[in-house]
Amino acid sequence: MVDAGHGGHDPGAIYQGLREKDLTLDIARRLKVELRGKGLAVVMTRDRDEFITLSRRPNVANRLQADFFVSVHINANRSRQVSGVEVYYPRESAVDAAAPFPPHIEPAEVWLPTTRVKQILWDLVLSRTRRHAARMALHICRAMRSRLHVRCRWVRGARFVVLREARMPAVLVEVGYMSNQREAARLAQASYRQAIAQAVAEGLVAYVRELGLEHI
Ligand SMILES: [Zn+2]
Repeated sequence: MVDAGHGGHDPGAIYQGLREKDLTLDIARRLKVELRGKGLAVVMTRDRDEFITLSRRPNVANRLQADFFVSVHINANRSRQVSGVEVYYPRESAVDAAAPFPPHIEPAEVWLPTTRVKQILWDLVLSRTRRHAARMALHICRAMRSRLHVRCRWVRGARFVVLREARMPAVLVEVGYMSNQREAARLAQASYRQAIAQAVAEGLVAYVRELGLEHI
């Protein structure tokens, strides 16, 4: 599942005549072509300029039982110096990492699940995919760094809705900063957006190979 960030009445970031929603759609379309060329079946959350709620994006992927979810975004920062790629995977929960395991739960909490019980359950659901998502994010980061000669600032966990609600390994790629003059100029070029799509596809395929799915 390939997700182009924003769309419709939500333009995302706007800098120097560039709108995030247009760039993400263009890159997502190119990514779809790249992945199909590598033998993967791809569905997009949106293939035109339309608004889709955050929850609907992973929900569609869940319903279609997608194997992976990749969301494409463009970053912006008040500091115009900041540039580079960032890749996010689902962060483990609100449950305190230092809390004892198994957690101490009162029977009444299970009978009528409290927020804490729901968090613990959701953590269990996510723990299966989180490790995979982190690996996938790392491969995408590496591929973008070597192909685009760009700094991959970090690979880290985050609690974005699109990541949190996906039942399959999910990553969100901030492919560059449109608030940075040099990066905005690159993002405005179709050839650079093509290179981004190729790099993300390469990272994804490297991850799939690591899983041992040799037919790809
Ligand atoms: Zn965005």
